[in-house]
Amino acid sequence: MTTTLSDLPVAQFIGGQWVDGTATMPVHNPATGTEIATVADGDDTTALAALDAAVAAQQDWAATDPRHRSDILLRAFHLLHAETERIARTITLEMGKPLVEARGEVAYGAEFLRWFAEETTRGSGAYFRAPSGGRRIAVRTLPVGPVFAITPWNFPLAMVTRKVAPALAAGCTVVLKPAPQTPLTALSFMQILAEAGVPSGVVNCVTTSRAPLVSGRILSDTRLRKLTFTGSTAVGRTLLTQAAQGVLRASMELGGNAPFVVLESADLDKAVGGAVLAKLRNGGQTCVAADRFLVHESRAAEFTERFLAAVAALPVGDGLDPATRIGPMIDGAAVHRISALIDEAVGQGAHLHTVGTGTAGSGHFLQPAVLTGVDTRTRLWNSEVFGPVAAIRTFTDPAAALHLANATDSGLAGYVFGENLSDTLEFAEDLQTGMVGVNTGAISDPAAPFGGMKSSGLGREGGSTGLEEYQELQYLAIER
Ligand code: NAD
Repeated sequence: MTTTLSDLPVAQFIGGQWVDGTATMPVHNPATGTEIATVADGDDTTALAALDAAVAAQQDWAATDPRHRSDILLRAFHLLHAETERIARTITLEMGKPLVEARGEVAYGAEFLRWFAEETTRGSGAYFRAPSGGRRIAVRTLPVGPVFAITPWNFPLAMVTRKVAPALAAGCTVVLKPAPQTPLTALSFMQILAEAGVPSGVVNCVTTSRAPLVSGRILSDTRLRKLTFTGSTAVGRTLLTQAAQGVLRASMELGGNAPFVVLESADLDKAVGGAVLAKLRNGGQTCVAADRFLVHESRAAEFTERFLAAVAALPVGDGLDPATRIGPMIDGAAVHRISALIDEAVGQGAHLHTVGTGTAGSGHFLQPAVLTGVDTRTRLWNSEVFGPVAAIRTFTDPAAALHLANATDSGLAGYVFGENLSDTLEFAEDLQTGMVGVNTGAISDPAAPFGGMKSSGLGREGGSTGLEEYQELQYLAIER
């Protein structure tokens, strides 16, 4: 690995230029607590400049041929692959995940560029005779217009490509505001897009520690046509209220609190493997992380014992260490918040098994924990954990388990394991979640619609619906 952090862009990307702004903000490595870079800290002036650039570029970009946009996205896909090591290392340094997972994120994130490069070349629309008479109805798609994209820190690349790729494919221009914890990956991606041939102003990136200031400036501008947000439900609600003023199209990918159900017929090899993936990928800092484990009474002792053994084999440490399987939490506040959830659950009768191994240096490390007998009234059970903590309860009646699984405002992901096909599928279909893993703990796929029901969100990313989120429909009523 020859690349150093000094090679990375640290200015904002506006109208095809690297713009410093008037202030800077530090970026920290959560594995060491040390400052690794200083990045431009944007404000309402740079926010306006970025929106001006996106608005100015919108008409020409919308007029490009789909094949042209597709070729650019494919070039970006290949460039990203060629840069895997550099980008993966950047992700690990600013976010903490193990390097092997960061490489996986680059591969996954890049796939959105390829998927939407292909999707945009498939024509869509309709031309048909009105049921009531001779009138013809023609329907065509248009880009919705300039898009404001706000992304979280937990997947610094993939959450960006999942928005930017379909927006560009649809013919929309973009202002991106990445999370303040992870601006370096987003800025490197801007570099790749420019190299791939994305014209000046079509994509812009404002890095900032002052999210409400920047976002308020952009959202109050009537030239903006769409907001796409991935982050917490609380911030999503605030942004939806602001977006309502401009009657903006809005996509919301918000928080989860996924149930993970092990039915009596489950294959425990699959269930334990799935639990490790669904709970501990990204140190549990995923929106689709399994939080509430519901295990059939007859399988609970063996499942818990095998899950504990599997978790104990995952070393905690600095993501740059090749042996590490669980990196640090994003910051000290996350460690305190999650520790408090554990303490409170134990105070309410849960049994704590702390099983992690490995180092705990000066960074924000948290040993993985498994708790059994967790009370359903605890915050651990009822809130999104966003860390390496599994809460387990047992059940005998699948109907009661289903009721508990659905007894939440969240509806992002769910998991069910069972070998009795009809029972397992029936259970999966009855889960009130936008996505269900059936005998798998890994559900993300660029070809599938990712998103949640209830307060977990609005709209879907990926799949063919992912493009429609950035398209407007126009219908022509044609009398002959
Ligand atoms: P967050 O809501 O704190 O921040 C997300 C983004 O919003 C960041 O860029 C942040 O700077 C910005 N932001 C914060 N306050 C803002 C405000 N008042 N106005 C405008 N922007 C604001 O979330 P986070 O801690 O970065 O990410 C974790 C959350 O994201 C979890 O709840 C997780 O479930 C969710 N998430 C959801 C998905 C999904 O696809 N559903 C994917 C990844 C993460």
